[in-house]
Parts: sequence; C-alpha cells; structure tokens
Amino acid sequence: MSRRRAPKGQGEGARRLWLLPDPGEDEPFIDVGKDGRGTLHVSVAREGRHDDFRFVVTAHHIAVAERSALRRWAVFAVLFGELAVFHADAAPARPPATCQQVIDTILGGTDSEVEHYLTRMNKRFLGGLRDSLALLSKTELTRSPDREAFEKRLWFGVEPLIMSKAERARRAQETHRAAADREIAVRKIFEPYNDALLMAERDGVVQHVVELFGSNPVISEFQVGAPAHHDRYLTFGSGGEIMVRDGAVKAIFFHVQPTEAAQHGFTGLSTLIPGLRQEASRSQVEDALGKPVVGRTGPSTTHSVGGGFVKVFYDTWAKKDAPNHLKLIQLTAEDTYARTDPSDERCPCCAGMLVRTASASGGVDVGSTITALRHGVAAGRLRQAHRWVALQDMLSLHASGLMEHVAAHLECTICRRHMAFALHRDADPTFEYVSLNDIRRRTPEPVPPVEQWGDADRIAREAQRPEQVATDGSSWILFAVGEQLFMNARCWYSAVDGSRLIRLEAAEVRQYERDGEAYLSRLQKTINRTWTSEEDPWRSRDLTRGGMSNEEAIEASLATPQEEQA
Ligand SMILES: [Zn+2]
Repeated sequence: MSRRRAPKGQGEGARRLWLLPDPGEDEPFIDVGKDGRGTLHVSVAREGRHDDFRFVVTAHHIAVAERSALRRWAVFAVLFGELAVFHADAAPARPPATCQQVIDTILGGTDSEVEHYLTRMNKRFLGGLRDSLALLSKTELTRSPDREAFEKRLWFGVEPLIMSKAERARRAQETHRAAADREIAVRKIFEPYNDALLMAERDGVVQHVVELFGSNPVISEFQVGAPAHHDRYLTFGSGGEIMVRDGAVKAIFFHVQPTEAAQHGFTGLSTLIPGLRQEASRSQVEDALGKPVVGRTGPSTTHSVGGGFVKVFYDTWAKKDAPNHLKLIQLTAEDTYARTDPSDERCPCCAGMLVRTASASGGVDVGSTITALRHGVAAGRLRQAHRWVALQDMLSLHASGLMEHVAAHLECTICRRHMAFALHRDADPTFEYVSLNDIRRRTPEPVPPVEQWGDADRIAREAQRPEQVATDGSSWILFAVGEQLFMNARCWYSAVDGSRLIRLEAAEVRQYERDGEAYLSRLQKTINRTWTSEEDPWRSRDLTRGGMSNEEAIEASLATPQEEQA
C-alpha cells in the first residue's frame, strides 16, 4: 500500500481504528466520527499510481471491528485483495458496490457466514488469504510485544476458516509422503557405509567405502585403555575416515569441517546428500536427513538410518539455527546415546593419559599414569570425581590391600568422557573411557578410615577435609573445616532448582551459635529470596563450581599453593 495518508476529514473528536494490529503509515484505518459512524480508508499503490478508497461504515460495523481483530484483518485482506493484489488482471479497482459488500459481509455477518465467505474468498484468491495472514504474522512479529499472542489467536482463528478439513488432511498426507520418500532416499545414501560397519577391513564392503573416500588413506594406529583396544584409522584427504577397532569397522566419519588431513573438510557432502551444504544450519540438516531422534539435548542430533545411526555434531557454541556450525557426521552400528562416541577417542585433552610400561607386555605404568592424570587435573583439563578414590591415595590404598578395587574417576573437560582407572587386588590395572551415564550406575567401594592406610601427613590432611556437620534434610547442609563453617543453601524458583554455597562470616557464625539450626533455616530463606535477582547480594559469595561437589568446592576455595603437589 502507499505511504500516503489520507487524514483529511478527521475532524475534532474523531477516533482512528487501524485494521491491522500495528498502526502503520500505509495501512488501512477507520476514522470514527462523533455520530458513531465512520469512514474506512484504504490506499493502494499500483503501477506508480496511488489510489485512495473510502467506504462508509455503520456504528454496528465499527463495534464489531473493535471487538474482533480477526474481522479487522479479514476486511483488510479481502478488501485489499479485491482492490489490488489477488486479481491476475490489472483491471481498475472493483466497483465500490463489491467492496461495500465485503465490508457488510465481514463486519455485519454472523460467524458462520463470515467463515463461509472467507473459505470461498481464499479459494478465489488461490490461497492468497492464508498467505497474506502468514505474511502478516511473520512481518509483524518484531513490531510489538503482543504480536506473538495476537498472531497465535489470529492463526488459530483463521486457519480452520480458510482451510477445509479435506485440504488439511491432504496436506498432512503430502507431508507424510514426502518424509517417507526422504527416509528411503537417505537410507539409500548411507547404505554402502552402513554395510561396512562391523565388517573386517579386508571385506569387499569396506573396500568399497575406501574407494568412495578416494583410496590411499593415511593409516594411524593406537592402543586405547587397559585391557587395550587396538584402534586403526584410515584417514582420507576427502574428509572421510574409517575407524577400525579390534579388527572390525566401528565408525565412519565425514569430517565436514577442515582437518589436518582434509584441508577443505568433506567437500563431497552435497554430492553425498543432495541439497546439504557444508555450511548448513540445523534445520537445513533436518530438511535433508529428516527429523532426528526426539528427546535428546546437546550439540548433536541422532538420526536412525537403515540399520545404523547417523549422528550429526555441531560446534558446541552454535546458536540454535545458525549456519556454518556443522562439524562432523558420525555413522555407527549402535546408538551411542548415553555412551561414549567413537569421534571422541582421539580427544586432544584426554587421549593418551594412560602410560604403558616399556616392557614387551605393554602393561600399565601405574606411577606415570597417576602423575599424568594429576598433571591433567592441575592444568584444569581433567576433573576428579569426588565420590571415588583420590589419585594421590591410590597407591597407599592399593598397597594396604584393604580394598578390592581402588578406583579413581576423572572427567575430561572437553569431550566429557570419564576415565575410570582402577588398581585391583587380584588383577592387572584397568583403564577405560566411559560415559557419565555409565559412571552413575556404578557404586564406589567405600574407602576405609585413613588411619588404617595413610601416613601421618595424610592423616593430618584428612582433618582439613570438609565434613558435613548438620542438615535439615531438604534445604540446607552445613559443612565444617576446622573452625570454619560453610553452608549449602538450596534455592529454587518455579521449576528451576539450584543452590548457593557460602562460607559463614564471623557475625553469621555467632548467630548460628546463638540460634542454632533455626538461624540456618532463616538464612537459607534469605538467600533463596534473591536467588534469581540481578542484584543478588549472595552471588559474589557463592563458592559453587560447575561439576564439583560441595566438599570439592570448599577445598578449592581453601586451596593454598603447598597443596598443589602434583
Ligand atoms: Zn576428552
């Protein structure tokens, strides 16, 4: 519509009612006079010419228009369609009588008459009403905070009016059929790769993938864990890669982003999956591969394809649907959900933590492995799980023979895998990479009192460990380290749960000594009150650290340089 306004005739005391939800410069409006009657103004720009149209509206029409955003939109859409847009012929505007009829029907008719009329009009405008509504909803989203609510109401109000049940069913069927067709196409694409999974490297199906990836791979081999797995990688300049574990293909990778071996990443992506480019966003990946397995969060999506699983990894920092964050496509025979991913096996942060002896047996060099892990912890690359044996206690505990399995668990801060390192009373040491999910299912063997296995230094240090001294069982826990007191105050707001861990200051300790646990309950309530507030005064005192237990966080807050003895 034109940018021109037609404000003439808007006398004293007149009101203006806009047909569209947001008053715009060139959108139609009704000027309502003192007598309650009004004039509808529509301005249409066509072929470099502006036409202003005016129509008389009654007080009843105005009352209806004021009540119903849907009817206002309908008048706009149909009138505008009649006047300018939806007619294929460039004939002059419809006769005024036709336009007046639009106004009378929509603002004067009953709901069912309007519904019938809009359905008919939508057909006549070749779906233009629905499209205009979609456009309206889309373009106006940014204009007003109420837009979303308005859009929803409008859409749900109109869609059933302008689309018949049969039409809706037809569209649903069409969508369903397209999804089924895509599924077949995607399965076909991955078939040669799927066929190679779990097969021996020399097998024809694996050799076929080697050909697809461009032959002449660079071979690299690793021993992983104890008991050791033998991993062999066939890395291609095309960005493709085959991982063979213990003689069978475990995973096939398509490195979308550049790697050392493939400077341009997997450039054959659009050939492999038609329409999928390297810079694709998440929704474009979904358009190409279909909907992923639902209910999984994180920077990857899993698609069940044929007999295998296609897992698509994005940069962890990728905004929801930003382009250029597609990183890697991994194909495996089993679903890696809640397990570790083969793509993490060469994680630069935690691979190679296990040190082997120089002897022919290639067993675990326990001392060197403990040192390597402690260096990793000191450098912040690994995190030690609190419930398990501390690295520095492993040798003493193992030597004491008091525990059947002396196990330490460490989490990698990059790939989030856990390393479970254990010394066994009656067996060789083990070292494995496991998922958080696996770790949660394991129960640590209780560590006997330090007096039974620790030296004097170690026993003295134990006295410095945070000890839980009191709790009300639900909203706070009190810890003591020597004279110092720490409180974990549980916080929640609506369905969000969290906590603050604070060291009690001298005045607070005095109040606790005076009022006992009642004081801690009051304190917890005080902390909880401002928990989600921007100006929460407790935030700066919070000792909570991501991934650490209360005890670990307290120890970290008390840590002094001489305790770093890695
Ligand atoms: Zn890692």
